[in-house]
Amino acid sequence: MRQEAKALLEQKKVDWIVGFALGSLKFTTTPLITKDVTDTERLVINPFITNNLANFLTGIEGRVGIVAKGCESRSIVSLIQDNKVTREDLVILAVPCPGIIDLAKIERLVGKDRDELEDITRTGDKVSVKVNGQKKDFAASDALFDHCLACELPTPQEYDIILGEERKPSPETKISGQNIAKLKELTSAERWASWEKEMSRCIRCYTCRNVCPACFCQRCFVEETEPQWTLPMPQWQDNLIFQIIRTIHVAGRCTDCGECERACPVNIPLRSLTREMYDIVDELFKFKTGMDKDALPLMVHYEQEEAEDFFK
Ligand code: SF4
Ligand code: SF4
Ligand code: SF4
Repeated sequence: MRQEAKALLEQKKVDWIVGFALGSLKFTTTPLITKDVTDTERLVINPFITNNLANFLTGIEGRVGIVAKGCESRSIVSLIQDNKVTREDLVILAVPCPGIIDLAKIERLVGKDRDELEDITRTGDKVSVKVNGQKKDFAASDALFDHCLACELPTPQEYDIILGEERKPSPETKISGQNIAKLKELTSAERWASWEKEMSRCIRCYTCRNVCPACFCQRCFVEETEPQWTLPMPQWQDNLIFQIIRTIHVAGRCTDCGECERACPVNIPLRSLTREMYDIVDELFKFKTGMDKDALPLMVHYEQEEAEDFFK
C-alpha cells in the first residue's frame, strides 16, 4: 500500500492520498489525508481501521487516491451515483477486509479497560488478547463489530488497485445484530419506551452525522431556523426526530458501515435504526447501496408503475 500510494503521488496521478495512520491511543487508527510523499510511510492497514474514509471525499478538491474497505467502496460508489464525486478523479486502493475489531466487545470479553490490554492480534478466525502477560483467545465472531458480521461486500468491487487476495462474505453474514433482534421481540409500546430511554442520553453532538458519508447536505435540517424542525437543545423527543429524519435521509445511501454507532460518545444503538432501514430498502426496492456506480440513486428517480401519484 505504501509503495502504491507513494508511486501515485510521485507520478502525479493523484493530488492527495487518503488512508489510515496509527492513532495516538492504543489499538486505534486515525485518518491520514496528505499530499506529502514521505507521509505514505505512516500508512497502515490493521484490524482497527474503523473510519469510513469516503466521508472526506466531498471536502477535498483534486484527484484522490483513497484506501477503501468494502463498505467504504460502497459509500464511494454511492457518492458517485449522487454526483458528489467523480470516478475519474479517484484511484481506489481496495483492502480485502476481514472485519474490524470492536474494542468495546474486547473489553467486555476480558473484563478490562482497553488501556490495560497489552496486545490484540487477529489470526484467521481467532482474536488473541494479551493481558497481565497471559494470552486469551476468542472467536473472531465474538470480537468483531456487528456490522462486520453482517458484511455483504468485504472486498470492494469498484477499485483500481487491490491490496491482497479477494475475500468473500462469510456464509454466516446474515445476522443484522442482536440489538435489532431484541427490539423486534418488543411490543411497539415497549420499543417506544426503549427509544425514549436511549434518546434521553443523546447530547446532540452530531458526531453520528459528521462521520457519515451519506450525510452530505451542505445545510443540515437541524440547523434550519425557518422552519425549525427540531429544537437545538437535547431533549429526547427532538433527539428522536433528528435520528428518524437522518435515517430517512440516508435511506438508499447507508452502506451499514457502522460508523455512526461506533462514534456516538454515549453508545446509542443507532445501527438498530440504520440497519433496519437498510433491510427495508433492500426488501421494498431490491436496492443495495453502492453496488453499481451506473445505477440511478434510489431516492432521486421514480418508475411509471409507482403506486403513489405523488412521486410522478
Ligand atoms: S463492514 Fe465489511 S468492509 Fe466494512 S469494515 Fe466491516 S467487514 Fe470490513
Ligand atoms: S453521536 Fe450520539 S450523542 Fe451525538 S448526536 Fe448522535 S446520537 Fe446524539
Ligand atoms: S448512517 Fe451510519 S452506518 Fe449508514 S453510512 Fe452513515 S455512518 Fe455508515
